[in-house]
Amino acid sequence: MSQAPAPTLRELSCADDYDPNSMPVDQARRLIARFLSPVVGVERVAVRTSLGRILAADVTSPVDVPAHDNSAMDGYAIRHADLGAGEVTLKVVGTALAGQPYSGSIASGECIRIMTGAVVPPSMDTIVMQEHTRTSGDRVIIGTAHRKGQNLRRAGEDLQRGGVALVKGKLLVPADIGLIASLGIAEVPVYRRLRVAFFSTGDELVSIGSPLAEGQIYDSNRYTLYGMLSRLGVDFIDMGVIRDDPALLEKAFADAADVADVIITSGGVSVGEADFIKDLLNQLGEVLFWKIAMKPGRPLAYGKVGKAHFFGLPGNPVSVMVTFYQFVRDALYVLMGRDPVPPLPVLQVECTSALKKAPGRTEFQRGVLTCDDTGRWRVRVTGEQGSGILRSMSEANCFIILPTDQGNVEEGTMVDVQVLEGVV
Ligand code: AMP
Ligand code: MG
Repeated sequence: MSQAPAPTLRELSCADDYDPNSMPVDQARRLIARFLSPVVGVERVAVRTSLGRILAADVTSPVDVPAHDNSAMDGYAIRHADLGAGEVTLKVVGTALAGQPYSGSIASGECIRIMTGAVVPPSMDTIVMQEHTRTSGDRVIIGTAHRKGQNLRRAGEDLQRGGVALVKGKLLVPADIGLIASLGIAEVPVYRRLRVAFFSTGDELVSIGSPLAEGQIYDSNRYTLYGMLSRLGVDFIDMGVIRDDPALLEKAFADAADVADVIITSGGVSVGEADFIKDLLNQLGEVLFWKIAMKPGRPLAYGKVGKAHFFGLPGNPVSVMVTFYQFVRDALYVLMGRDPVPPLPVLQVECTSALKKAPGRTEFQRGVLTCDDTGRWRVRVTGEQGSGILRSMSEANCFIILPTDQGNVEEGTMVDVQVLEGVV
């Protein structure tokens, strides 16, 4: 994702093609990407511990996989040359089981019984499935139409010794740790975990456990952030709620920049509040304040505080989640070393709701993607779409993405949905 040479944030803020008051989502993504490169720092971990981590070097295979020619079926290992125009009868002279090879000799007109995974003797070239044979005492009767080499898994057909089994930058999933184990490898190098500090800003916020006074609300953003960051597998530092007080905020930013690779805040970047935070952050680092042409999630700040990357997300609970998935997720993956970073999957499906939408901004409406009895996928919107209605995110399993120029959407129209199932 990174390109060289990157401009400084200050140069960027003066660029001609740049409108901080109406920044398209894609442009904001691209601009952020120019400042990202993976963390330096690698550790070797045991295979199981590597699940969900990102590989810091290619894994090459020390062996051929499979190690030997072996049978893909239960049946008989034969010489193809022994087959004829009609049925033939072969003498069964032994058995090969997985882990127990047959080491005797096999003359012309003879074969062995073989089980799945068992080593195929070098003189045998074809496996006939048991279901395609009849037996009679120590003989087996085999018909025609068997292809030479059938049902035989060749040594090295999955992976040759010295070949790359897994590529640097891969997020390790269950299949990968199984593959690593299949190569007999006990430890792999992974990038160190990214450290992310986060806090909420706002005089009205109270942490759970304390009673609410009039006008106060419970801080929920730190919980959604905790959840989203946990799913990504980063180390995080929850710094609590910070009041809208320049001295307290300055200390919080300085403390966070000391310990974290990334600082994420929520609240305090909207028009009414941005000014003093702007001054503060420009003393501590270089931060750009953008109004993204999207709904929800319009205000967004990105920059550097000390050495740490900074994402200032809006305060509204839905906006926090939308901006996290549209900007922060991919950025964190790049910093974590993931390469390539796959975008969240987007599908086109029929929308069974009529949607209200004004042209001018990309909208991320909350949707419920369901499959009917006939196997057809459709999406409907989750009721009210206010950016404070966190229940809409809780009910949703996807975002319905409505492009900038789109107006109202009629029921029955095909729409893009970005799938969150398994992600959120
Ligand atoms: P702000 O961006 O700070 O102007 O906040 C926008 C809206 O989001 C306000 O209604 C805030 O009360 C609300 N809000 C801000 N932070 C949080 C939070 N951590 N948890 C829940 N609501 C919040
Ligand atoms: Mg606020």
